[in-house]
Amino acid sequence: MDTYLERLNPEQRLAVETIDGPLLVLAGAGTGKTRVLTTRFAHILLSGRAAPGQVLAVTFTNKAAREMRERVADLLGRPVEGLWLGTFHALCARMLRRHAEYVGLTSSFTILDTDDQLRLLKQVMELHRIDAKRWPAPGLMGAIQRWKDRGLTPDRITPAEDTEFAGGKARQIYADYQARLIQLNAADFGDLMLHTVEILRTRPDVLAQYHRFFRYLLVDEYQDTNTIQYLWLRLLAKRETGPANICCVGDDDQSIYSWRGAEVENILRFEKDFPGAVLVKLESNYRSTAPILAAASGLIAHNDGRLGKTLRPGRNDSEGERVLVASVWDSDEEARLVGERIESLQRDGNRLSEMAILVRAGFQTRSFEERLITLGLPYKVVGGMRFYERAEIRDAIAYMRVLNQPADDLAFERIINLPRRGVGDVALQSLHGLSREARIPMTEAVLRRLADGTLKGRLREQLGQLMACLEQGRRRLAQAQFLAEGGDTPSGPVHVGVVETLLEESGYVEMWKKDKSPDAPGRLDNLRELVRALVDFETLGGFLEHVSLVMENDENAGADRVNLMTLHGAKGLEFDTVFLPGWEEGLFPSQRTLDEGGNKGLEEERRLAYVGITRARKRALISHAANRRIYANWQSAIPSRFIDELPEEHVEQMGSASLAREQRRSAPPVFGGQFPLTARRPRTIEAWEQPARPARAGGIEPGTRVFHQKFGYGIVKNADEGKLDVEFDKAGFKRVLDSYVEPAPS
Ligand code: ATP
Ligand code: MG
Repeated sequence: MDTYLERLNPEQRLAVETIDGPLLVLAGAGTGKTRVLTTRFAHILLSGRAAPGQVLAVTFTNKAAREMRERVADLLGRPVEGLWLGTFHALCARMLRRHAEYVGLTSSFTILDTDDQLRLLKQVMELHRIDAKRWPAPGLMGAIQRWKDRGLTPDRITPAEDTEFAGGKARQIYADYQARLIQLNAADFGDLMLHTVEILRTRPDVLAQYHRFFRYLLVDEYQDTNTIQYLWLRLLAKRETGPANICCVGDDDQSIYSWRGAEVENILRFEKDFPGAVLVKLESNYRSTAPILAAASGLIAHNDGRLGKTLRPGRNDSEGERVLVASVWDSDEEARLVGERIESLQRDGNRLSEMAILVRAGFQTRSFEERLITLGLPYKVVGGMRFYERAEIRDAIAYMRVLNQPADDLAFERIINLPRRGVGDVALQSLHGLSREARIPMTEAVLRRLADGTLKGRLREQLGQLMACLEQGRRRLAQAQFLAEGGDTPSGPVHVGVVETLLEESGYVEMWKKDKSPDAPGRLDNLRELVRALVDFETLGGFLEHVSLVMENDENAGADRVNLMTLHGAKGLEFDTVFLPGWEEGLFPSQRTLDEGGNKGLEEERRLAYVGITRARKRALISHAANRRIYANWQSAIPSRFIDELPEEHVEQMGSASLAREQRRSAPPVFGGQFPLTARRPRTIEAWEQPARPARAGGIEPGTRVFHQKFGYGIVKNADEGKLDVEFDKAGFKRVLDSYVEPAPS
């Protein structure tokens, strides 16, 4: 009957069988932490220590919760009902519904989505007469969310925290926003935890009830809990009547959510908070082959301040392929290479669902999606949308459709008020009316209303500008066409520049630039990637046709599909084959991390790389392109420093990687671009292939006007050991290395 225990090694078994009292399992990737948690769950039930509803189990994603439920059912040999198993938010939502009245809600309260949250916050800000241009609402929303992550209700915000936003009004706005939510019988995502913790803090009777109710607590991915989640766990676990039966499993080397408020220190505090805690270390990795493990361990060893864990191969087939590192010319070649590998693995009988392409940034999925579609290989984007289904891509394509085809009313209606141009219902109805009566497209209706003076004021100005942008774009396209027919080949595809200009001058790009929400930079990256995709097509029409075909590619292609997802989304998962593309400076580690300088962000990126490699059971292929296209122009890219940090004996180089290593030492870091490109002058590959620039002998003094390859002109504000804080004219305040700037000619 105890066969499930026999499938564990002695340390794992100890972790499963040490049922009473606090327990921390601290162990590297693939050592069976999740397996321990699942088996422990089953063991508690099978040994009769608790009924299914008396165990509280926390996972990091809903998907992980589903898997755990299935595995527990497997171990038990029967389906289980009534489990308290889910993410922090799901569990808290359930609790909050039971006690909603304590915070002034009813049990049927609504959970707001992010759009609703923002709309509500904007209303509150208007009441306070806050200039939304100067103090954008998404910025404050972010601050409120972080306060909530830290368990700070409005009354707990100290004046010191409050001064930054809107001259110290943030706390009051936060308080009013919370009050409005209550009036609306609604909670935002952060409230699910915040209210629940508040109730547990202030209602000893409720807390005591849960203490009686939950006999055991189980927590996966403990390294990524934030303060409020930690408070919640501690409240539920600590009881007066006996030891805390809490078991947390985690890996400090996989802490990758500090940007969302995760506090890896929670691991260190565990033994202090729960005296007498048993610490179990697992050291055998059962997931990956020896070379994969060695490569990952070698990489993470470059981080300081680790808790230090041993990790050794636990599988007997510990031979295995070395980690492949491929140097490719550009992202097309990268996508081709990955596509070929997938096809050949599939021919050899491997399932597509056992393969994953893990990217650092969402925009990277585009080239792989297109390649997979071309090859007819089904895929799914896990935890996100397919590239061409993302909102900003649909918007931009609507702009292109109108450009290409003025009668495309559906597309035009999508963009007429995007960004906001003050087109209200009344104006829209009147335009519809005219379009119907006169049997003309909407764009034509707008032109007539502009001509006859019906449209006035801001609306006139804004729509006039939109129409002018479209008109100018069409003219440029027609001109290029004319020249091409005359045998005059333009220097590059004209439609790329036309689309770029349209997206900028219509205000669409600006809309996302001003947006301070955390996903805005990713959306801008996607837009850049979209413009990049245009280059491969001779005409705009050709591209749009391609897009409509890509969109047709059906989603229901059965269960066996290649997985595409971000590295963040891949935590806790495993696949036979893992592709890790785009390991280039400025992409991974990300440009933002490099711009910030310092070690903290870089170490988190390195942990992310570690998470990536350790997802692989049998093979991992890392790739980096020597050139990335930024719009129609090329820039050379440098292999990621993480590639250099992989232990050579466990890595096999494909392509001209040695050359690439050489390049890494010499080339300037120029990945990433502003939108638009800082200068429109054409840049060629040669322009970037200049020899290494020697480090400057003398330092650059504050006050000097300088030029930076990527950010343009600016004034040095501060200089510190080779790093400069520069206020750039266009790009704003940045920290850069002094070897990449030169004094501007005066
Ligand atoms: P991560 O840190 O990535 O979340 P983990 O520590 O949670 O990893 P698991 O996912 O639980 O690791 O286990 C990794 C793989 O090793 C799984 O396929 C699991 O079934 C297998 N495994 C774990 N323990 C053993 C064991 N004792 N014998 C054989 N296989 C095992
Ligand atoms: Mg796990």
